[in-house]
Amino acid sequence: MPPLVMKFGGTSVADLDRIRNVARHVKREVDAGYDVAVVVSAMAGVTNQLVAWCRDAAGLHDAREYDAVVATGEQVTAGLLAIVLEGMGVDARSWQGWQLPILTDNAHASARILDVNGGELTRRFQERKQVAVIAGFQGLHKETGRITTLGRGGSDTSAVAIAAAIGAERCDIYTDVDGVYTTDPRVVPKAHRMDKIAFEEMLELASLGAKVMQVRSVELGMVHNVRIFVRSSFVKPEDIDPRQTPPGTLICDESEIMEQQVVTGIAFSKDEAQISVRRVQDKPGVAAAIFGPLADGNINVDMIVQNVSADGATTDLTFTVPAADYDRARVTIEKAKNTIGYERLDGATDVAKVSVIGIGMRSHAGVAARAFKALSERNINIRAITTSEIKFSVLIDAAYTELAVRTLHTLYGLDKA
Ligand code: ADP
Ligand code: ASP
Ligand code: MG
Repeated sequence: MPPLVMKFGGTSVADLDRIRNVARHVKREVDAGYDVAVVVSAMAGVTNQLVAWCRDAAGLHDAREYDAVVATGEQVTAGLLAIVLEGMGVDARSWQGWQLPILTDNAHASARILDVNGGELTRRFQERKQVAVIAGFQGLHKETGRITTLGRGGSDTSAVAIAAAIGAERCDIYTDVDGVYTTDPRVVPKAHRMDKIAFEEMLELASLGAKVMQVRSVELGMVHNVRIFVRSSFVKPEDIDPRQTPPGTLICDESEIMEQQVVTGIAFSKDEAQISVRRVQDKPGVAAAIFGPLADGNINVDMIVQNVSADGATTDLTFTVPAADYDRARVTIEKAKNTIGYERLDGATDVAKVSVIGIGMRSHAGVAARAFKALSERNINIRAITTSEIKFSVLIDAAYTELAVRTLHTLYGLDKA
């Protein structure tokens, strides 16, 4: 049988009882004949605590040391799961990122995987059917020999990369929900689970705020054609009928999905900040003068709106950045004030971005227009809009996020019957 990758997130390994539950899921697949590589996250809350300690130790700290600290959470769960599996009579050993190794670039705290060596795992599958328990989220920068981490939520990416490296039949992502929903089921109880979602749509959902999968993991899955199945770890292993497909969502190629909806899902993010540069010179080179320094500072600019100037001399330019970069972005623009030439800087952090996603938008007109009307009927003001082939986003006051998401969810017929 081909190998199988099983990934368990923080809530699924939150304590020893849950780790025992995970071990029983692993044993179920081993008994079914699979060679299993398990990828684990840190126990729920642990990474947040580690991050907070780094911040408290020094507001501005060396990202290499941050990685040395935050990578430890996964080491604990990998070891514990291996111990529990051994106790159940399943041959298992833990692996840290540097031991395989999982090689990454040196963008500490948000490193990208360059290569995964799955050779030793495969050898041990063949020789003794040993289960590999791999610490997610971490890797190694070969040239410096230092530990790296892949950004928050990065264990998803570890799992998909390992699945690609060992040619796994599937990469099962076990989490605290039983699949990918039309929107966050914790916010909209009427959201419904999708049986399948195309890579491209999942990529948009994830990058626009749905935290169920890390963006990079979906990218890797798409490039290497890894079948990713999102499912619940809270189902008791004994209750699973091996002859039936369990509840969950398959992330797969668009061509595998027969019935395509115009709108498949809605994502939102409150992690946004808006900056408006007022009465900026309306002349060539100004956009470069603003966005050049932001790019140099590694600040991701998202929505950009520029008005056509009325007087031909000055105009307003509005854009969004991640909330965490708001202060830095303001300082950057203020420093460049003389080169840019503007009157005033306005900003807001109490904003949210709500996005509507669907491959069907490629061939249907007027999808966004319906949203604008529905939002206006709810008195929700739109500050900025962006559109692309398979999605559009609106920036609104954060206080209206839930209302906007629910309104659009109903509007596009996504509420469960
Ligand atoms: P894990 O710790 O297992 O990696 P995460 O907390 O990272 O789990 O991701 C799962 C969470 O993602 C769910 O609890 C859910 O609240 C949230 N989520 C956001 N959008 C969606 C969506 N469209 N479908 C399912 N879950 C979503
Ligand atoms: N433990 C890491 C985090 O909390 C990685 C992960 O859970 O995927 O971000
Ligand atoms: Mg996660």
